[in-house]
Amino acid sequence: MKCTRCRARAEVQLRSHNAAFCRPCFLFVFRRQIERAIESEKMLGRGERILVAVSGGKDSLALWDVLADLGHDTTGLYVGLGIGAYSELSHAKVVAFATRRGLPLRVITLDEEAGGLGVPVVAGLTRRPPCSACGTMKRHWFDAAAVEGGFDVLATGHNLDDEAARLLGNVLRWQTDHLARQRPVLETTHPRFVRKVKPLYLTSEYETAVYAFMRGLDYIVDECPNAAGATQLVHKDLLNRLEAASPGSKLAFVKDFQRTGRPAFAAAPRENPRDCEGCGMPAYGTLCAYCRLVGEVRRKAAPLAGAPA
Ligand code: SF4
Ligand SMILES: [Zn+2]
Ligand SMILES: [Zn+2]
Repeated sequence: MKCTRCRARAEVQLRSHNAAFCRPCFLFVFRRQIERAIESEKMLGRGERILVAVSGGKDSLALWDVLADLGHDTTGLYVGLGIGAYSELSHAKVVAFATRRGLPLRVITLDEEAGGLGVPVVAGLTRRPPCSACGTMKRHWFDAAAVEGGFDVLATGHNLDDEAARLLGNVLRWQTDHLARQRPVLETTHPRFVRKVKPLYLTSEYETAVYAFMRGLDYIVDECPNAAGATQLVHKDLLNRLEAASPGSKLAFVKDFQRTGRPAFAAAPRENPRDCEGCGMPAYGTLCAYCRLVGEVRRKAAPLAGAPA
């Protein structure tokens, strides 16, 4: 098999792109694909300060690696979710990456900075699925860290597989408001809500895995222990089967949705958020989702605290 660009021996085949690449060409094409997504969606401006949310997994570390190489002003943000050994190891991977590359890193540990409200505690007390509690906690702390640090934009490592699975989930339940907002750039709608971008939204998980391998990135390979029960994995599995039978399906699903599907949903008007009465962050009621969740935790924890040991 020969490299599509330079005819040297190919090291990786990308069936979805009907192409194969040697190592230098793959690294070049991988970066260029991200650069193009950034440019065509106007994700980042020159000189902007970017906060990159990193989990210790391959996607977010690959994103940080590429953005730094492209000359952007980046700071990593790691939110420690309090999920036992998984959180400890992922934290260590992020610190090691930041140190090796000499890049600034901000760490927020929910067990400490959020008053002991790690994901297992919040999920247990509220009886919510861990990923639902986790999503609300992460969103809040990402937004808060971006605003407090004076960043212009928050970048996350959501890849093509994540976006396709999310799109499938939204379509299966016809969640029109979610469909209207599923886009690679979320512009700010509130002074305490920085722009959010997903530069990897057209880059597959397989491609980031190859990139991480070729670049020698040391990332956490194990999934979060809560991922096993997540519906998103079922959707990913379905899409992988579709992709195997028809390469390029995921890319077409997400790309064509952005081009032709989303505008139809985006027509629905949406009110702008106001200030949360609890924390001042954006809210669609009197309290934001985070403050409602924390309130529920406190109410449920109070009787336990008063109970005899
Ligand atoms: S799998 Fe669920 S609980 Fe684990 S990090 Fe992801 S969203 Fe959070
Ligand atoms: Zn080549
Ligand atoms: Zn709030």
